[in-house]
Amino acid sequence: MITCDSPGLAPLDQALESLLSFVEPIRDAQTIPLTEADGRVLAADVTSAMNVPPADNSAMDGYALRAADLADGDTLKLAGKSMAGHPFRGTLRAGECVRIMTGALVPAGADSVVMQENTGVADEGLIRFPHGADQGDNVRLSGEDIRAGQILLTAGRRLRPADVGLLASVGIAQVSVRPRLKVALLATGDELVEPGRPLADGQIYQSNSFTIATMLRRLGCEVLAMGTVQDSAAALRQAFVQADAEADVVMTTGGVSVGEADYTKDVLESLGRIDFWRLAIKPGKPFACGHLPSSLFIGLPGNPVSAMVTMHQLAAPMLRRLAGEHQVKPVRLRAQTSDVLRKRPGRTDFQRGLCDYDDHGQLHVRAVGNQSSAVLSSLSQANCYIVLEQERGRVEAGETVTVELFDGLML
Ligand code: AMP
Ligand code: MG
Repeated sequence: MITCDSPGLAPLDQALESLLSFVEPIRDAQTIPLTEADGRVLAADVTSAMNVPPADNSAMDGYALRAADLADGDTLKLAGKSMAGHPFRGTLRAGECVRIMTGALVPAGADSVVMQENTGVADEGLIRFPHGADQGDNVRLSGEDIRAGQILLTAGRRLRPADVGLLASVGIAQVSVRPRLKVALLATGDELVEPGRPLADGQIYQSNSFTIATMLRRLGCEVLAMGTVQDSAAALRQAFVQADAEADVVMTTGGVSVGEADYTKDVLESLGRIDFWRLAIKPGKPFACGHLPSSLFIGLPGNPVSAMVTMHQLAAPMLRRLAGEHQVKPVRLRAQTSDVLRKRPGRTDFQRGLCDYDDHGQLHVRAVGNQSSAVLSSLSQANCYIVLEQERGRVEAGETVTVELFDGLML
């Protein structure tokens, strides 16, 4: 494993692989109503017990008929109607048609539907079909969406709106999901003040608890906000002990950079097994991770951009794994940079970018705002990362770069 005890910086992909190997997915499950299922992680595969649609039905308003009946004439006798929720009870006989509405059952004996616009009334009780019909026209077949016995969604799926609808469409009203992770979140630093209070000389408002808590909630976690802890061994120790007792995961921001690390390190190492990483990622070099007696510990850097980027790129995959979720690959695209991008080889750089297509369909990206890891407004303005490979140096305007579109955790 590569940690800060190893020489050099840990490349991002290797570090992530190592970090994920620290994490054992939770095994617990709970049953919840479908109305609360959005964003929850499925604990088991879900199989459909039925066909969707359950029976053949019409895709159009018009007339149900037997296509072959229109081979030698264009007029059929109206035998009744089939409305959505009120099917035609009989069987269609030769030479007959049935008025039918969208979603209504196709009557026994009928094999196609002719849309209203292609029909005419010949005489009372007689309908004309001047354009004929082909078997199967405008009929939605039973099971064409979902077949009985089919696996609908697999364990580890984080449910989205369409998934919730899919479950509803097969009559499922409850699902078995993993419990929400309880994450205790604490900011560290003597300089930090909570918004809403007056600011003295040398103090700043703390923002990390707000960015990280918001991202955690979007990841489906329950956040235990533990406020700001002073940079003192006693205060940190007490906070970590309490957080560990209450949460599945303890997360901190700040206090893991050079100079401070030894200090937080002593406290953490007296309580659990924590590794301090120097990652080849910019922003966000310092990162700590390991185990307290009954929780996973993740220490994010203090700089606001570094905290969010490491939360997004490293902590979120770990939390997804712990929560039993499949890993999701971010969407990465190739774009042409409109700006010169300053970079030195050595670390993978996540610059903040704004990308857009031009009139010719070419994707362009420009760096937004000040790229310092302390400048949060750049993340607020961006819609993507410009991901610059570890060994890459300065990038000239017009070169092709990789962009990673912000997902629902960031936007
Ligand atoms: P640290 O990692 O504790 O050395 O912090 C690095 C930088 O991030 C310092 O400038 C801190 O003042 C700043 N910082 C640390 N925690 C926070 C926070 N919760 N909100 C905003 N800035 C912070
Ligand atoms: Mg600090």
